[in-house]
Order: sequence, then structure tokens, then C-alpha cells
Amino acid sequence: MTTLLVYAPALGHTKFQHPESSQRTVALWRALERSGLLPRLHQLPPVPATVDQLRRVHTPELIEYVHQVSLRGGGLLDHGDTYVTASSFELALLAAGGCCAAVDEIMTGAADNGFALIRPPGHHAETDRVSGFCLFNNAAVAARQAQVAHGAQRVAIVDYDVHHGNGTQDIFYEDDSVLFVSIHLYAPYFYPGIGGMHEIGVGRGRGYTLNVPLPPYVGDRGYRRAFDELIGPRLAEFRPDLLIVSAGFDAHWDDPLASAGLSLRGYADITRKLIGYAQELCAGRILFVLEGGYQLDVLTVGVTNVLHALLGDDVAQDPFGRMPQEEHDISDLLARLKTHYLSK
Ligand SMILES: [Zn+2]
Repeated sequence: MTTLLVYAPALGHTKFQHPESSQRTVALWRALERSGLLPRLHQLPPVPATVDQLRRVHTPELIEYVHQVSLRGGGLLDHGDTYVTASSFELALLAAGGCCAAVDEIMTGAADNGFALIRPPGHHAETDRVSGFCLFNNAAVAARQAQVAHGAQRVAIVDYDVHHGNGTQDIFYEDDSVLFVSIHLYAPYFYPGIGGMHEIGVGRGRGYTLNVPLPPYVGDRGYRRAFDELIGPRLAEFRPDLLIVSAGFDAHWDDPLASAGLSLRGYADITRKLIGYAQELCAGRILFVLEGGYQLDVLTVGVTNVLHALLGDDVAQDPFGRMPQEEHDISDLLARLKTHYLSK
């Protein structure tokens, strides 16, 4: 098994006391060094994405806007949540380009699977708008790389970050060649405020966006059921040539920004399911792309568990245990989602 590791820590893209800082990738690297996993991974150096690669999913105006703000030394965008530093443009190119390089290796069979530990994250970046700490949509750029450079007919993106992947949804909303699945917390005043079950795509893309909007405190059992009863069957119908995972670790119960209630054991379960879907449907071709996750100990153990699973190890650590609250039953919600999305 050849498992890729792309590491683009974006040390120059950081802001004091901002949750999405370079402390995240630095902590990940330290944890990987301690884990003993590094010698077993094929480390792929990130290369910058070209503007042409970005233009497959973003408008030229958006790309130029981020470039210009960076050239002027940086600034705050998107009502102050999303920052740009003097080096952010170059570093965001490395993040997206690192994902494309990994897709190249996986689609040509040079590698089996991989994890892109990259920043800044991407899934909130829309066609023409930066948003939610995200500048360019790394997972979307990677999906288009598989299609344009390698002839993939169908790519599925599964986003289990606790926030809805509004950027990825926006980019592929009218597209039937990319199935976008987002499972996320959906509650009043919770960012980004969209991702309801009625959002299913438009035109040719109708039916190719699958939103699983969860109430707080769903926990491991509800997530497992959503994958078994809804997401897995929809992926099997779609038959992707490549599976990309927008991997956010902020659905953990101890994350400071959210309350979805997943444990690290629960994360490991859904990771194994996703790897299993890829093995059944697309010869194991799966790329995990880092999105959110702001409790650093959760993030590092969560990522380490994914890497073990990609390597085929039966290892999953969970030093935090289960959510202290009782898990919220989602039987009724799942029944409605199944009639909505799996009517055939
Ligand atoms: Zn998130």
C-alpha cells in the first residue's frame, strides 16, 4: 500500500489568536514524528497550483483579489473572519497544488491513497467569494484536476467537517459529474447557515448535492447510521472514479466551535467506511484533504487514526472517550432524508 502524505503547513499564513493558525499544522507534524508513521508514508512535496488550475473552479476576479490583498501586505476579508497575509496567496497556491499533485499520483496508480495536510482550508471558498477562513477551494480544485488531467468521469466529495461545505456546494451546484455530500451541524446562528435538505442542486446538478443537516449532539450512532443508510447507498449509485474527503475534525464533541458530538472512535468508524466505499467503487482511490478542527489534541489523534486506516492498520486511538451528553436520536430525520434522496 502506498499512502501519500502532502504537508503544506503555511507557516506564513497565521494570525494571533485566530483558531485557524499554523499551530494546527505544526502540532500535526510533531504528532506524526512521535507516531512513527512518517517512514511508512510517501511524502509528496507540494507544488503551487497554476492560475489555470484555480480558474477551473474560481473566477479570475476572486483569484486576483486574493493576490492583490496579499501583495499589499494582507488584510481581513469576509467581515473579518478570513485573513490574508503577505504570503497567503503563494501559500494558498501550495495548498491547492499539493492536492492536485496527490490526485496525479493516485489517478495514475503511482500511489493508492493519501492525506493532504494543507492550509488554509478550502471548503467554504465559493466560485467568486472567500469565506470562513478559506481562500481557494482545495478539494474542488483537486476534483477538477482528476477530471481535466486524468479523464475521471465522476468524482465524489464527502465533507464531514462540522460546518456545511457551502463553497464546494456552490461550485458544483449545477454539475452532475461531481457528487457533493455534506454532513454537518445545522442549527440557528451556526455558520454558514445553509445546507438544508432542500438544497439538492439545480439543472443538470439536481440530485447531485446531498445535505445531511444534523441537530446538535448526534454523536457516533447517528453519524454511523447516516453513512450506512444514506451516504454509502448514494455513493454506490453514483459510482465515482475518485473519492475526495473534506476532512474536518471539528465535529468532535470537545471542539471549541461546535457541538456535533462525534468521538474519535466515531471518526475512525466513518473513516473506515469511506475507505471501504472507495475500495468497492473506485479501486481504493481516496484522498483526504484537511479542512477544520481546532482542538489540537483531537486534530492530531484524528489525523493519525486516518493515516493508520489508509495504511490498512487496525489502529484507532481515542483518549477522550465518548461525548458526556446523551446522543440525539435521528431516526425521523434519516427517514425523511432517505425518502428525499433515495426515492428509487
Ligand atoms: Zn469546520
